[in-house]
Amino acid sequence: MRDGPRPTVLVAIFLVSLIASIGFAGFPYVRTVFLVAAAICFMLLGVGLMRSGDRAKYRDPYDLGLLREIDEQEQWAQVDETELQNGADIVCPHCGHVFGGRFPVCPSCKRSP
Ligand SMILES: [Zn+2]
Repeated sequence: MRDGPRPTVLVAIFLVSLIASIGFAGFPYVRTVFLVAAAICFMLLGVGLMRSGDRAKYRDPYDLGLLREIDEQEQWAQVDETELQNGADIVCPHCGHVFGGRFPVCPSCKRSP
């Protein structure tokens, strides 16, 4: 499922138009046409980038990143954050939460100590 031209084609047209506008510096009207083409390509690239941000993060059904993310979410859901762990010896410098060494990041603010 494709919508619109591919980004590599847009970048190529953008660069060629910019170079052509430099080459046609002595012809103001031709130069303007190439500059407008470059501006249109630039705007289409921006629109494409904004649309790609709205799309689903994982489009590949066999991507293991999604499975890992679900597993991490379940692990975080099982952790009781209010319980002080045995051997809790790490104080988070960001939020002051005390947690054990088995956590790679602070369970409270999810930042690395
Ligand atoms: Zn923290």
